[in-house]
Amino acid sequence: MKPPAFDYAAPDLLDEAVSLLRSHEDAKVLAGGQSLLPLMNFRLAAPSLLVDLRRIRGLERLDAVDGVVRIGAMVRQRDAEERPETAAVPLLREALRHVAHPQIRSRGTIGGSVAHADPAAELPAVLVALDGRVRAVSSGGERWIDARDLFRGLFTTALEPAEILTEVELPIAPPRTGAACVEVARRSGDYALCGALAQVTLAVDGTVEAARVALIGVGSCPVRRVDVEEALEGEAPTAERIADASARAAGGLDPPSDVQASADYRRHLARVLTRRALELAVERAG
Ligand code: FAD
Repeated sequence: MKPPAFDYAAPDLLDEAVSLLRSHEDAKVLAGGQSLLPLMNFRLAAPSLLVDLRRIRGLERLDAVDGVVRIGAMVRQRDAEERPETAAVPLLREALRHVAHPQIRSRGTIGGSVAHADPAAELPAVLVALDGRVRAVSSGGERWIDARDLFRGLFTTALEPAEILTEVELPIAPPRTGAACVEVARRSGDYALCGALAQVTLAVDGTVEAARVALIGVGSCPVRRVDVEEALEGEAPTAERIADASARAAGGLDPPSDVQASADYRRHLARVLTRRALELAVERAG
């Protein structure tokens, strides 16, 4: 199918992009186009103007400074996966490998994935698990939005229509940290029916110093499981302890039931995948 007619602009400056968005009520930002263009082709989105960010300088920066990695919104997912700086955020690297196929990751951007806010997408869950934040720019200036305040519902974020996400910030992992992303999907490269992301830091004595757990595909936004994390912190990460903590992963969840999977099956996956992700993360931290 073909999209409805639309205008196109590729400004050189961020200010220009912001004012184009402000002056056209139904304009949309175009990043990698891997989600937006299919939506337009299916006529589920019909913006009158696309504001392409690809020529704006600075949105492709990727730096590791002062304990954080900052990734420009237009950094391609594939580049983020391969750049040496992101080795300091092992959960990001693990998650990126599960995003679609390498061909899609070569076009899809870090900012596009976060702004799109698909409930089964991996990158929003990385932000939520690691207490990351994003920088957003509008005609009113710039602001930082914490991950916990960013994701508001199905494909909905706290970004205003004329606001551009310019970078994502994630904390560098301490030593003795391991991470894992474990998913069940119908086919390799598909969005997950359910997925668990875990990052574990071990203390020198081998107990769990910090644990981070988030689930995807089980609600309208990524779900952080602080109860699972707290059940592990300060404890020796034995198989029994991990299984006991993971049993809490489905508590209070209200996942969707659809042709792909029932809500009960997704709850079952939440527990099993959390256990597997934690086991792998502990193994990699050691
Ligand atoms: P675009 O498609 O260009 O934009 C997406 C949305 O975000 C649009 O509404 C756009 O206006 C907005 N937007 C983009 N950038 C910004 C910005 N900087 N500021 C404000 N708003 C912005 N993703 C996964 O996470 N996991 C998967 O398993 C997965 N599987 C896929 C399988 C297929 C077959 C396909 C086609 C896609 C899949 N994706 C998956 C989606 C892919 O990762 C996209 O790259 C991503 O969702 C959107 O990134 P993009 O750069 O292409 O954004």
